[in-house]
Amino acid sequence: TVGAIGYGAYEIYNKRHPLEQKPFDPKKRTVVVLGSGWGAVSFLKSINTDDYNVMVVSPRNYFLFTPLLPSCTVGTIELRSIMEPIRFITQHKSRNVKFYESECTDIDPESKTISITDVSDIKGSVSNTTVPYDYLVMAIGADNQTFGMAGVREYACFLKEIWDAQKIRTRLMDCVESAGFAKQAPEEVDRLLHMVVVGGGPTGVEYAAELHDFLKDDLEVWYPELADKFRITLVEALPNVLPMFSSQLIQYTESTFKQNKIEVLTKTMVKEVADKEIKVMDANKNLVSIPYGLLVWATGNCPRPLARKLMARIKEAQTSPRGVLVDDYMRVAGAPDVYAIGDCTFSKYAPTAQVATQQGLYLASVFENLARIEEGQSKKITPFEYSHQGSLAYIGSDKAIADLPFLNGNVSVGGVATYVFWRSVYISNMFSFRNRFLVVGDWMKSKVFGRDVSR
Ligand code: FAD
Ligand code: MG
Ligand code: MG
Ligand code: MG
Ligand code: MG
Repeated sequence: TVGAIGYGAYEIYNKRHPLEQKPFDPKKRTVVVLGSGWGAVSFLKSINTDDYNVMVVSPRNYFLFTPLLPSCTVGTIELRSIMEPIRFITQHKSRNVKFYESECTDIDPESKTISITDVSDIKGSVSNTTVPYDYLVMAIGADNQTFGMAGVREYACFLKEIWDAQKIRTRLMDCVESAGFAKQAPEEVDRLLHMVVVGGGPTGVEYAAELHDFLKDDLEVWYPELADKFRITLVEALPNVLPMFSSQLIQYTESTFKQNKIEVLTKTMVKEVADKEIKVMDANKNLVSIPYGLLVWATGNCPRPLARKLMARIKEAQTSPRGVLVDDYMRVAGAPDVYAIGDCTFSKYAPTAQVATQQGLYLASVFENLARIEEGQSKKITPFEYSHQGSLAYIGSDKAIADLPFLNGNVSVGGVATYVFWRSVYISNMFSFRNRFLVVGDWMKSKVFGRDVSR
């Protein structure tokens, strides 16, 4: 905490007015960064703008602290507490960083230009243009995996962006109020209050956990007539949830879920998604229909259209359909001066913020060395090495699980102490002092007053 306060002071006193920052220098190389998520922001925080002109292109003008997004779907934390404007991050730089709120729609590695489009609702007279780069850093993240199944985009909610959390929140309260509507048939009440989560990875598990807490702590108190009708079901195709954790922690999670009456259906494949029900193939290969009120879809990642377009342009070098292929220096195979980090890449690591952050930091050091080499100094560029700090997941009722390799070998812990640890790790990993302050405030607020049940 003392460190955090010191850092807060740094943030407050070392920010620069944009007019005090150096302007773009035509003699310097220009680095264009695509994205404002974990990979991009980690790179931006450490790139030395004395050496480069830096430009950022992203359809959202803020960074989002994704690990606490599940908490926002139920109102334990407010969305604005986990957002940070990109300009707040760039104000500490020596040189002005240009930001364009737009989507990159094409990369041309031949002419070294990108096409950008303003995708917001309100546009000026120019909303499409091309921009040249000397170096390009792709940190565009990934899309939601739907396996091409019809109905998913239409009827399910994802959990990746701010608007996803808002939509989940609105639908949940909508289901609850409709279930309480006059003369509602009992089977319709059961359907409306059945919340189904597809995907047993960390996102699906944490969402189910947060939802359980919200039902127990708040909704059952405010809606006593519906209290015994709420149901949560988690559907997973594999034999167990959280495959990245040890078998002991998987068991602990599954037994905690059982106590909390979250039904876990493993070895169950979703076959069809309709507006009020999903059809699944259960563990015994029977086709079963599951009626739902709210459907949350968290089955992992697939490449975004921009990544697919680039891969198709340079398909001799890009041989994996699962993501952009990079070498150990984060260079995109087949596209000189294009680098890629984070979830958009196809790599041997899991798609996590931890990986994207380390890759962003690493890439900034590569750029630092490239600049020194150009000045005639002898610098060596070493390959990227990932250092795994552990995995954490919140599983509900103030319990969390942790796989921590730094505690002698592979120690796995679960329980309430881990939960306190989980909170402190997230707080210390937030990018700004302002965010930490807001999140701690939200936690205290929901402890004292409970969560808000308005839509
Ligand atoms: P992102 O952070 O997704 O950023 C991508 C950026 O690119 C965004 O700003 C986006 O707007 C922008 N973009 C998209 N398309 C374009 C385009 N065409 N042009 C320009 N910009 C574009 N990881 C952990 O390590 N620990 C956790 O506890 C954890 N919890 C998570 C919880 C949830 C609910 C979710 C969804 C993810 C979680 N993750 C966690 C995973 C982590 O968020 C991702 O691995 C991480 O965000 C990847 O970083 P990235 O920079 O590659 O992509
Ligand atoms: Mg990013
Ligand atoms: Mg992000
Ligand atoms: Mg606009
Ligand atoms: Mg990425």
